[in-house]
Amino acid sequence: MKYISTRGGIEPIAFDQAVMMGLARDGGLLLPETLPSVSAQKLDAWQNLHYKSLALEVLDLFSGDMPRLDLDDLIERSYSSFRHPQVTPVRKTGDLYIMELFHGPTLAFKDVALQLLGNLFEYELKKSGGFMNIIGATSGDTGSAAIYGVRGKKGINIFILHPHGRTSPIQALQMTTVTDANVFNLAVNGTFDDAQAIVKELFSDLEFKDQYQLGAINSINWARVLAQVVYYVFAFLKLRKQGFDSVDFSVPTGNFGDIFAGYVAKQLLPEGCINRLILATNSNDILTRFVNNGDYSIAGEVTPTFSPSMDIQIASNFERYLYYLHGQDGAKVKADMETFAAAGRMDLAAFGEQAARDFASYSVSEEETIATIRQCSQEHDYLLDPHTAIGVRAAQELKEDRPVVCLATAHPAKFGEAVQKATGNEVELPPALAGLANKESRCEILDADIALIREYVEKNALEGEI
Ligand SMILES: *Cc1c(COP(=O)(O)O)cnc(C)c1O
Repeated sequence: MKYISTRGGIEPIAFDQAVMMGLARDGGLLLPETLPSVSAQKLDAWQNLHYKSLALEVLDLFSGDMPRLDLDDLIERSYSSFRHPQVTPVRKTGDLYIMELFHGPTLAFKDVALQLLGNLFEYELKKSGGFMNIIGATSGDTGSAAIYGVRGKKGINIFILHPHGRTSPIQALQMTTVTDANVFNLAVNGTFDDAQAIVKELFSDLEFKDQYQLGAINSINWARVLAQVVYYVFAFLKLRKQGFDSVDFSVPTGNFGDIFAGYVAKQLLPEGCINRLILATNSNDILTRFVNNGDYSIAGEVTPTFSPSMDIQIASNFERYLYYLHGQDGAKVKADMETFAAAGRMDLAAFGEQAARDFASYSVSEEETIATIRQCSQEHDYLLDPHTAIGVRAAQELKEDRPVVCLATAHPAKFGEAVQKATGNEVELPPALAGLANKESRCEILDADIALIREYVEKNALEGEI
């Protein structure tokens, strides 16, 4: 299995190179040359596997010549940090199914991918004898999941920039209370966009990038998508055991990463196993406008909502789906992405029928989000976080006569303010969050000035021998 770029500009590369490269060198995103599929017999053999064993089978289809024993060890270590024995358990709530993806160390679904990515980085660096400095900006969830993914790992330093005072207090504490020597938290006096712009500028300085072996942990990394394919297959097999041979999934979407993993799972499984993917957005609805009208265009500024991890205008992983819409023609993807960069829109109306076969979409308002949390609490005594509530509401709107699995992407205590607004009650903190305020914390507060940040990184980065 080799990997190619959505823009057609690189020679095929191996899985481990794809993981280390992150963004393809031609500016595109990396994808397998061909998507694998499994037979009905194979699926029968997978039926009763535990999460980790299933992950081994799925990842093995994509990981080229990586030794199976090594992969097994990486998976074992990545998911033993999860608090639930089933890793991503599925529960029935009313007439919907909810798959809880928040049992990892930082209580959001990003742990599923970033625990594995951290171990993959460490594995590759051990093989090559190299080092890397990860630099990333976060508005909240990705930063802590990435930090927990690489804390204490040899050969890796991580620098995470977050906007000072603009994440939730819990999100900031989840990052700054990790005091391992290889973890550097930078609170930037500015917005998330300021922090993100500085990171992009550091990456675009190729000399700096090469000298410090800069590594990226955002969701364009193929390993993140791949790790998420596993839980779609896991949930399907659970419902299959209950007698269903076709299911839908409802996915609260920001960067199109999680739902693209669902798309890969749909191609992997025999026809019809995954029928529809419900793409749920908040009022930042570019993806809903695409699915429902073929209109992929930026509309004004990002609107802040109760579901901040989905407050995104440009869904970076959408390019991967576009590649399949264009019949795997990299030149057409490149032309479209250039149009989008220049004009802020692409006319994709011609793909309306295909998009409607792959997705159904609904944009959920702030009022609907709060009402859904309230309703679920009253009727089922079950708390949804605001992101999960968006998926649940979209499922209620678009449900057909198949079961729908809603992805629960964060623990409700992580976004307690919105939950309290809906239910009137304070959310009880789980043990992983309860002790945070009393823990030792470490964080550097700096102005949003690239020269200052660069100087800080240079002073604290790992460097190779000259
Ligand atoms: C990141 C995130 C999302 C959106 O996931 P994408 O892969 O960007 O679509 C949804 N919910 C939560 C809680 C998140 O942290």
